[in-house]
Amino acid sequence: MTIFKLGVVGQPIKHSLSPIIHQEFSIRTGIQLQYEAYEVPPEALDSFITNFFKDGGHGLNITLPHKKACIASAHVLSKDVELLSAANTLTGKEGGKKIVADSTDGAGFIRDCEDKNIQILNKNIIILGAGGASQSIIPSIAKLGPAKLLVDNRTKNKTNSLFNQFPEIPLLDLDNFNGPIDMVINATSAGLAGSFDWDIIHGLDKETIFYDLSYGPSETPFLQWASSYSTHKFDGIGMLIFQAAYSFELWFDIPPPTNHIKEILFKNND
Ligand code: NAP
Repeated sequence: MTIFKLGVVGQPIKHSLSPIIHQEFSIRTGIQLQYEAYEVPPEALDSFITNFFKDGGHGLNITLPHKKACIASAHVLSKDVELLSAANTLTGKEGGKKIVADSTDGAGFIRDCEDKNIQILNKNIIILGAGGASQSIIPSIAKLGPAKLLVDNRTKNKTNSLFNQFPEIPLLDLDNFNGPIDMVINATSAGLAGSFDWDIIHGLDKETIFYDLSYGPSETPFLQWASSYSTHKFDGIGMLIFQAAYSFELWFDIPPPTNHIKEILFKNND
């Protein structure tokens, strides 16, 4: 019986929920795997990835701060990775001699929106943040035809870099818009300090949907902030589960069942 060697690489990594999610996928699909969390510093990333696949590794998830740097270790880049210059999934082929890089974050976000009946078409959507997570979801959202796709970031010149990265996507700065906002997506790590505030002075109302890419066992600071506007609030645990499911599908060609994984994660976080 084959036991597939998998893992997630980041720094820090000890709070990653990916090992629990993939263990659950293993149980539900009957595919035997050993999925470990690896804390790897930037200077050791390339040799870690190369050796992992040389030693029989089947697949790796890549998380902060390595999503961009990891593509230097890959031999084949998916179209999404070429567009984003970042990846979150590596797959070993040809006995580890060929490493393929993919990105499943955007697809995971969209799948979670579908799951929650969140419409993108013809909606005015604002993304807060201009880092890796913001980048990874912008092309997937743009494909679904929002009326307006706005971006706002604490550091303004990073917003401009993002606009330059996607010249074919009509992104707008929040400062140039004063219409209604249908959905606010938090793609910042601002809540990590325990509180959240953002200067959006118009366009929000009780129908606005608030979606936080961050997640945790209790309500996130962004969603607490959103409570004064609306009750339509979601955290990023669904996206996390679906991006993991798409990684699993890339590795094994089987979409794993995803229902009830959220409850298992919460149980493990008690
Ligand atoms: P990143 O590349 O480091 O970017 C961080 C972003 O947060 C930047 O736009 C930064 O703004 C902003 N920021 C940080 N602290 C801030 C503060 N105090 N006030 C305002 N803005 C602040 O990180 P990332 O990869 O984009 O990740 C962002 C979040 O998304 C993380 O919490 C991560 O856990 C989450 N995420 C979730 C999933 C999922 O599957 N659910 C997937 C990916 C990421 P500046 O440019 O001004 O520094």
